[in-house]
Amino acid sequence: MMHAQPNEMRRDYLLNRWVVIATKRKRRPTDFVKKAEKRKPDMCPLCPGNEHMTPPAVLVYLPSKGGVKKEKDLNGLRHKNWLVRCVPNLYPAFTPPQEKIRERIAEGFIAEKAVGHHEVLMESPRHDEHPGVARVSQLTHVINAYIDRTNELCRKKYVKYVSIFRNHRLEAGASLSHVHTQIITTPSFPRTVREELKASKDVWRKDEECAFCEILVKEKEGSRFIWENRDYIAFAPWASVHPFEFWIFPKEHQCCLLDLSKTQVKRLAEALRTCLGGLNSLLEDPPYNFGFHQVTSNACDYYHWHLEVYPKLAIWAGFEKSTGTFINVVSPEDAAENLRKAVSKEESRMLTV
Ligand SMILES: [Zn+2]
Ligand SMILES: [Zn+2]
Ligand SMILES: [Zn+2]
Repeated sequence: MMHAQPNEMRRDYLLNRWVVIATKRKRRPTDFVKKAEKRKPDMCPLCPGNEHMTPPAVLVYLPSKGGVKKEKDLNGLRHKNWLVRCVPNLYPAFTPPQEKIRERIAEGFIAEKAVGHHEVLMESPRHDEHPGVARVSQLTHVINAYIDRTNELCRKKYVKYVSIFRNHRLEAGASLSHVHTQIITTPSFPRTVREELKASKDVWRKDEECAFCEILVKEKEGSRFIWENRDYIAFAPWASVHPFEFWIFPKEHQCCLLDLSKTQVKRLAEALRTCLGGLNSLLEDPPYNFGFHQVTSNACDYYHWHLEVYPKLAIWAGFEKSTGTFINVVSPEDAAENLRKAVSKEESRMLTV
């Protein structure tokens, strides 16, 4: 009887999260391509002209003398001709605190009110201008808007964490097809970030080094490296949970988006455009989610913000759901090799446009 060679189990850099890298059957990127029918809906509530269909904007960028003017919608007015626009979500998961709310009687289990904000940020007036195909100038506005919203929201007493994330395409949870990012604030640290924080704090206490800075030094040289510019580096993480997952880190030690300089904003726009453009061309516009991990207070010595990108190409089934251990059928080394080529092609294409 033949015995198969065992697969490798890998632990995340910091989290106690395990992945089985199950690459017995070599999978090519084309095995994952699923063409989705793309149609613009007859009526998009997020497209220009339909501003009255959403709540008043908490932030709009308007073109102004070659620059940008920042406004809010006030007194029933809805600004038109915006570059980016951010509104409260009509169906929020988290809501601002209110005075008169009756306390629910506890049942002996732990509960906390879902106090916070839930916003939708329209990334472009163009319905389809997602980061994989966007103009870098437009992505610069998007990142500046992330920074402005983070800055306003993180000052509120009941906000502990500002989560900025994107669901691309219906299969990844986007219920509206207009390009948008969501922002949710939570009153406590969500589990993944709390665990990253705790682990990186332990490393820092021991070695006085940032755990993430150490990871970057290693991944820059290795077989999981994908792309870099002066300020950012992209690589497939050692224990990737998702096929073709990659992370983008600032090279400079920074704990949140509020630390970015003007040129760093522009270079992050380039990083998003190049890396997501490479993903887009490699897997023919796959569904994906991305999320920033950032901490806005008290952890700046040892926390290092980053963006995690999770292509949605596999389905979590019984084993993953019941155990919290994952099976990934594409090794991060293979993913990185394919992404590296696709991203560098994307980069030369961008330069010749
Ligand atoms: Zn639209
Ligand atoms: Zn660092
Ligand atoms: Zn993270």
